[in-house]
Amino acid sequence: MALIVQKFGGSSVANAEKIERVAWIIAEKYTEGNDVVVVLSAQGDTTDDLITKANEINPNPSKREMDMLLSTGEQISVALMAMALEKLGLPVVSLTGWQIGMQTNTEYNNARIKALSAERIKAELDRRRIVLVAGFQGINRYDDITTLGRGGSDTTAVALAVVLNADLCQIFSDVEGVYTSDPRKIPGAKKLDEITYDEMLELASLGAQVLHNRSVEMAKRYNVKMEVLSSYVRKPGTKVKGVTKVEQSKISGVAMDTNVAQIAIMEVEDEPGIAFRVFQALSKEKINVDIILQSVGRNTTKDISFTVARTDLDCAVAALKEAQKFIGFSDISMNANVAKVSIVGAGMMSSPGVAAMMFEALYDSKVNIGLISTSEIKISVLVDEHEADRAMSAIHARFFET
Ligand code: ASP
Ligand code: MG
Repeated sequence: MALIVQKFGGSSVANAEKIERVAWIIAEKYTEGNDVVVVLSAQGDTTDDLITKANEINPNPSKREMDMLLSTGEQISVALMAMALEKLGLPVVSLTGWQIGMQTNTEYNNARIKALSAERIKAELDRRRIVLVAGFQGINRYDDITTLGRGGSDTTAVALAVVLNADLCQIFSDVEGVYTSDPRKIPGAKKLDEITYDEMLELASLGAQVLHNRSVEMAKRYNVKMEVLSSYVRKPGTKVKGVTKVEQSKISGVAMDTNVAQIAIMEVEDEPGIAFRVFQALSKEKINVDIILQSVGRNTTKDISFTVARTDLDCAVAALKEAQKFIGFSDISMNANVAKVSIVGAGMMSSPGVAAMMFEALYDSKVNIGLISTSEIKISVLVDEHEADRAMSAIHARFFET
């Protein structure tokens, strides 16, 4: 007998038929004798549809009222699922964020969890009921409804797993697990049996939208055993945990991010404090800088290149131009047609030659590398956007398809 938290994404509960299918998955775990707590997202595109509805009435609604609206989606899901389980003759109760004591801060639309009492859930489990919890929502100190940011139901699930000391937190969606690359782009992408929290976090920040980032951070901090699996194909998914088996492949995945732009500022003085001035100007605007390259100085000047999110490009350029006198540079150039291709793998710490394999794959497919950056478990290169798909397949083939 175990305590299991299961979370089902919006696509898994999109209509009556899918709800009934998920009800069977829940019923199975429950009738095996486990305590089962289930977190649900809003059905299908409900959250997007609610946002559209809001904008039809007021393009600039207050964040408080947005949360009031968006939280309804999850409430529909838990009520309908409870009805499906009732039909199967199982004892079940659906609960909202406030009923489970999900306390958050006051940042509407992107609230952080502050406390979670879960008293009601424990009492319901003691009565041998299946507990269904509306994901993504909480309540702040003004007793107002808040939401945890898009995709936040994953975080609700992990938080419950922490507080209830669950044996496992299963995240069900329409994909079978975490893949070595985007299966829509790379036909040879393979499902991973397991992946570390750190690798998962890197992949998520590179645009692999499998799990809400904060859910993985929390799972890592409290060592929650997670599993990502499909609600359609009944087979084991990908386990997310602290350490994975050794002797795995050198890397876990290849990812691509096209929300990238490159900026270069030319002929800054080659003296202390210049980089500080450049990045201070950007940090004032809360712009994140990613890969940074400083050219070797010529005469008394040098160039600095770096990347920012493409969505921040205009703002970054404006901030730098405004600080041009203070920083002291002759010219600025930008390129939005770039993409970042990265490999991620905890195995690279112990296997030399991973970078060489990656660069060889790029060379063989004639892709030119712009900037390069590395961390303990990641190597990223900046390439021309039009070559990014080719770069990703070549690297994937080199590591996984031989
Ligand atoms: N329904 C919310 C969203 O679409 C939360 C979630 O799905 O996790 O972002
Ligand atoms: Mg989601």
